[in-house]
Amino acid sequence: MDREIEVGLIAVRAAARLCQAVQADMLSAGVSGVTSKQDGSPVTVADFGSQAVVNRIVGEAFPGDVIVAEEDGSVLRHADGAQLRAVTRFACEQVGAADPQTVCDWIDLGAGEPSGRFWVLDPIDGTKGFLRRGQYAIALGLIEGGRVELGFLACPLLPCGGRRGVVFASRRGHGTQAFALDGRPLGPARVAPTSDVKRAVLVESVESAHTNHAASATLREMVGTTAEPLRMDSQAKYAAVAHGQADVYLRLPNTKTPDYRENIWDHAAGVLVVEEAGGRVTDCYGRPLDWTQGRRLGKNLGVITTNGRLHERLVTVLERVLDLRGGGCRGCDEDNSEVASTTTEVI
Ligand code: AMP
Ligand code: MG
Repeated sequence: MDREIEVGLIAVRAAARLCQAVQADMLSAGVSGVTSKQDGSPVTVADFGSQAVVNRIVGEAFPGDVIVAEEDGSVLRHADGAQLRAVTRFACEQVGAADPQTVCDWIDLGAGEPSGRFWVLDPIDGTKGFLRRGQYAIALGLIEGGRVELGFLACPLLPCGGRRGVVFASRRGHGTQAFALDGRPLGPARVAPTSDVKRAVLVESVESAHTNHAASATLREMVGTTAEPLRMDSQAKYAAVAHGQADVYLRLPNTKTPDYRENIWDHAAGVLVVEEAGGRVTDCYGRPLDWTQGRRLGKNLGVITTNGRLHERLVTVLERVLDLRGGGCRGCDEDNSEVASTTTEVI
């Protein structure tokens, strides 16, 4: 896997530079380069550019490999020419000259079907964070035989070791290594040793639609955690747990979207980065994530990530908060005082 690790790191670092260039150039110049996808979520020149660059680098190194990536290149092919020209300009800055159709072809390399060995890419996870200059991540994983074998997370704005911007690379069984954005090794990443749940620092989504803030507040009240949760966009939350900035990342099912199942590209890289830093990741029921269900984690509900030591305890409490055994979702109500008072006996 040495070559895969080298190529994965080169790819996510190039994509991070592209995202920084787009942010500096287009956003500060007041040119948004933003359009809406069918589901209403935003997509930018940087999402397409990042996907083009990563696919180009990975596709050239491993021509036979399947890539499953979030963005659909046909949208860009049929959009107005200005957005495609901008994507082409930024992508070519990173990987050399190409015409717009070739750049679209690179983006389309990500239309693979997940099976066997495949790369999974979120070119910008947390696009909303990117747009508000909060956290975002370039997330690349390699899945083989239903297991995540490699994970790369580039977080251009995440504070780490006194500076902003860090890349994590993990190989199953070999730990998680941190790098500066320029590729300089920063050493291994380890989760925090917190074992007192009252002292646990939680991290969760900024967007209330992507999790369940009320259920998370109930859980914090039940375990007596006093610290306010951190809120950040993207898989930077996994990175925060992997390097000990947070102890727990909760992604709880939202009652407004009970049928929502997580996209594999929103989790594959982050999960391995945490596990190889000594942490644990399961769904809300404590079940392992099942990567064999296509583009979504169809057999899982929500995600709970911890430093390992806190995991079983929190899964037990979560079961009561969400009333998973009863099939309900009691902690989802905005008024969660009753849930907190009736369930304290489990702690
Ligand atoms: P985050 O930045 O952690 O809030 O997550 C961003 C991701 O949330 C996006 O990439 C979407 O794929 C995903 N997402 C969209 N709708 C939902 C939902 N209802 N529940 C959970 N995640 C969602
Ligand atoms: Mg995403």
